Amino acid sequence: MARAVGVFGGAFAPFHNGHLRLAIEARERLALDQVRLIPTAHPPHRPDSHVLPARRLEWIKLAIRRERGLIADDREIRRDGPSYTVDTLVELRAQFPQAVLVLLMGSDAFQHLHTWYRWTELLELAHLAVVSRPGSLLEPSVETCALLAARRADDIGALMQSRKGRWFQFEVPMLDISSTRIRRLLRAGHSVRGLVPDAILDAMTAADVAALIQDDDATPTH
Ligand code: ATP
Repeated sequence: MARAVGVFGGAFAPFHNGHLRLAIEARERLALDQVRLIPTAHPPHRPDSHVLPARRLEWIKLAIRRERGLIADDREIRRDGPSYTVDTLVELRAQFPQAVLVLLMGSDAFQHLHTWYRWTELLELAHLAVVSRPGSLLEPSVETCALLAARRADDIGALMQSRKGRWFQFEVPMLDISSTRIRRLLRAGHSVRGLVPDAILDAMTAADVAALIQDDDATPTH
């Protein structure tokens, strides 16, 4: 029975080494029994990827093969409608009623937390753990400050004393990698080896590349 479960969602179009290192470092540093990697099917804040969710899930499975404690989780793919994180956490809370749940995210996502559907409920279901990403602040946004200021945990011990309700910042060696940059390199016909796990790259077809470069980069985050 898992005592501490990490939850890491994203478009993962494609899954890259920045995602992989965040999941691994979080599992080890926060002593999580498992980190569940959850590709979004219909992200509320961006267009659906041209790469089908099932294919993005397959990429995750390839990337985490033989990596202990990382799990590819298809629950958002199986659900209809927008892929709201709050719904995912409600499901996971029911599945792991006694576990510490930790929602993992980069600082760019953290900065936009107040735009997430029913964002104030997230901390009623889980903790948040945030890592720095190049180009975005690691402080709560003005909009979330009132709720988050008193809920910061200064160390992992403080976080693990409860099953939910606190947030924590942890540092991982920064990898300046984004899916946007990878899609741009692919569009320009450049190599993305070293940015994307080899197992994904070796399985990537011309159709996958064509789908990735169709993804809308009109408002890139990086
Ligand atoms: P895109 O460029 O398409 O927006 P992305 O690289 O930001 O993609 P997402 O799938 O949007 O990746 O992100 C999922 C989660 O992974 C977010 O919480 C994001 O902050 C985090 N993340 C992505 N890349 C990194 C990285 N290099 N280091 C740490 N966190 C990352």
